[in-house]
Amino acid sequence: MAQLSLKKIEKVYPNGFKAVHGVDLEVRDGEFMVFVGPSGCAKSTLLRMIAGLETITGGELRIGDKLVNDLAPKQRGIAMVFQNYALYPHMKVYDNLAFGLKLAGTPKAEVDQRVRHAAQLLEMEHLLDRYPKQLSGGQAQRVAVGRAIVKKPEVFLFDEPLSNLDAKLRASMRVRLTELHRTLRESGQPATVVYVTHDQVEAMTMGQRICVLKDGVIQQVDTPTALYDRPANAFVAGFIGSPEMNIHAAELQPMGSGLAVMLGGVALPLPESKAAKLRSRGGAIKFGLRPEHVSAVARPQGDSLAVPATVRFMEHMGSEVFVHFDIGTVPLTARVPADQLNGLAEKMRGEAHQFHLQLASCHLFDAETGTNLLL
Ligand code: ADP
Ligand code: MG
Repeated sequence: MAQLSLKKIEKVYPNGFKAVHGVDLEVRDGEFMVFVGPSGCAKSTLLRMIAGLETITGGELRIGDKLVNDLAPKQRGIAMVFQNYALYPHMKVYDNLAFGLKLAGTPKAEVDQRVRHAAQLLEMEHLLDRYPKQLSGGQAQRVAVGRAIVKKPEVFLFDEPLSNLDAKLRASMRVRLTELHRTLRESGQPATVVYVTHDQVEAMTMGQRICVLKDGVIQQVDTPTALYDRPANAFVAGFIGSPEMNIHAAELQPMGSGLAVMLGGVALPLPESKAAKLRSRGGAIKFGLRPEHVSAVARPQGDSLAVPATVRFMEHMGSEVFVHFDIGTVPLTARVPADQLNGLAEKMRGEAHQFHLQLASCHLFDAETGTNLLL
């Protein structure tokens, strides 16, 4: 069993800087967990504390049922893959994979079996005879992962392992690592994975669950879909999703028997289902609406609100266009299928156009704390 349990984990660096604030987290046995957040939010610090490379200054860390706060890295049953992995340049891939096992005194036949099994899992049997300088970036990164696999760890720790690869390679390595996790489980060697990235696309595509961090504090832990649909606060809402959710300061006001959000001088009547969840009948809030919930044409369902706006510019992505426009002085982005641009395609900067907001999908956050008011 290799579940991870973090209880009130703290990190104060020797210079007095507090990097991690009371982190409580359970990573399930065999789970693929992603830590995501902006640079400096303490992803690496947390991972390095799990690995035993950084002291834990408060709280309890358990791997399986064992308290491991004071265990050396070697005794924790973990293997780590970094962004800046270094292969031994004078050794062939085979020996790069075998080196650690040989050092630990593993019998030769078992070393061979483990190296070949790892090479097979990573589809790199044909690379075993090459030297690192004869490998592409993606192949070298696979060798680095292979070195972790041969150790047969119960827990894999990845710290931004794909950040040095170009976009295309990153995308294919994402798939490869996700498949590897599945293959290991199916082959009876299930691995618990903690994968650190600053890239929300990586987090969304790879994680079974995602832990979103900011300034050393957990913001939310949940499945990709739940984070996307039900963000706990405005930070998570803005961090997950591309293009970003439109989030703006707005004003809540009574309107008839219901409520409206005042945004850029326009009153947006709230659907009754949303208004019913709000305690307050007025005051400052943050209004959030994902770009895909704004269209350039009225929806056939008739459930969108037409608002006058000014076109700013468009980004053509192929099948979609990101249209940037203003409601009053408030800038918003719409994510429009290219075949639904209609009259918008010919519009120039500064021209007027009606956009259609699907308010049933809007989010409202506390103006100060950012807490989602509709959950
Ligand atoms: P991330 O991996 O999310 O980018 P880090 O875990 O590397 O973030 O760093 C978290 C915070 O801790 C940052 O503010 C960083 O400057 C600080 N930090 C990292 N290492 C040290 C250290 N050795 N001494 C003091 N502060 C540190
Ligand atoms: Mg880091």
